[in-house]
Amino acid sequence: MKVAVIGGGPAGLTAARTAAENGLEVTLFERYRIGERINCGEGFFDLLGIWGKPEAGVLFQVKEILFKINNFYRIDSSRLNVWMVDRFNWQHYLSEMARESGVKILEETPVSVKNIALIRRDFDWVIDASGISAITLKSRGNDGENRSRCALTLQYKLEGDFSCFKESLKAVLEPHYQGYYWIFPKVTTVRGIANVGIGFFNSSFGKINLKKEMSRILYQENLQDYTILECKGGRIPLQQASPFLRDNTLLVGDAAGLASPLHGGGLDMALFSGKLAALSLLRGAPHMYEQLLRQKIKHKIAYEEKIYELWERYGIDFMEKSLKAALFFGQRNFRRGLLKALRTTIKVK
Ligand SMILES: Cc1cc2nc3c(=O)[nH]c(=O)nc-3n(C[C@H](O)[C@H](O)[C@H](O)COP(=O)(O)OP(=O)(O)OC[C@H]3O[C@@H](n4cnc5c(N)ncnc54)[C@H](O)[C@@H]3O)c2cc1C
Repeated sequence: MKVAVIGGGPAGLTAARTAAENGLEVTLFERYRIGERINCGEGFFDLLGIWGKPEAGVLFQVKEILFKINNFYRIDSSRLNVWMVDRFNWQHYLSEMARESGVKILEETPVSVKNIALIRRDFDWVIDASGISAITLKSRGNDGENRSRCALTLQYKLEGDFSCFKESLKAVLEPHYQGYYWIFPKVTTVRGIANVGIGFFNSSFGKINLKKEMSRILYQENLQDYTILECKGGRIPLQQASPFLRDNTLLVGDAAGLASPLHGGGLDMALFSGKLAALSLLRGAPHMYEQLLRQKIKHKIAYEEKIYELWERYGIDFMEKSLKAALFFGQRNFRRGLLKALRTTIKVK
């Protein structure tokens, strides 16, 4: 069976590797070089509890999340399976593993709206892992489909003193927009590096100037004199592009709109959907891909959508109450505490 994978991000590399390891003939098309132009905070939240420590690219395990709403909280994340990764190194490792398994990786080979029809014809199956601008949706004139609801982000890579972060990340919710800003340090030394970004999660972003907000945040966090090494950002899909199976094409990762509707993290679902898509082909059951995927992610997505909706309706005070309750219930096990707190707060509302 011949399989084409479009996109060499986490979803595509995982799909390609899984398929090739199990004997399929796989070609992966990547428009740049592997690991080039990555746009990410690089925090890996294994919220599905499937992956554990990433195989490569780990910078440190996140032991604490510093969370600010109206008040400041320290959340023990040592049991939550959160990692800071260097995606460049991680994806290089994944691509090496894929190559060793027999995947033919064609870098600097973009798939265009023009040649996608040939790929669909020449391969038995296509796995579209081309991210938010999914090429197969574009080719059908459905470009906006997995962008109908999305977050808009801006992120700087900053150089400066991040030594106070040690093994922690910071996230801050503010009252004047639906979203949050983050400081995800990669190197926590005096001459360190961090991804500092902001994400707007609803249509309010039309009225908000991202660059101005970032300048304000840099002052607020006393980072205004740090060096900006890179300025990136873009959209994160918050709505799924179902169905995930279209003719002989399976959508995975951001191409399927599989990021968290609450916080935009998508690495866990990119890996999972990539693996599952490949396995469903191997089992001769591509039609089962979506059902199996949904079974695994339905509780996570339902909770995240519900919290998002309540956050939108009741503002950050609701988020603060839920967080307090979660900390109260879950001193030792934050994940269990959060679920319990949400059940209680959602019932009350
Ligand atoms: C600013 C920002 C910060 C984020 N921070 C986090 C975070 O901290 N944690 C987290 O879990 N998630 C985060 N996300 C989301 C996360 O980056 C994505 O969910 C994840 O990268 C999805 O993986 P993917 O493999 O589906 O797609 P991508 O990582 O987007 O990979 C797609 C690949 O396809 C290639 N490609 C695209 N079009 C074509 C084409 N036509 N032909 C060939 N190749 C093509 C691209 O070059 C790319 O290599 C963030 C997103 C943004 C924008």
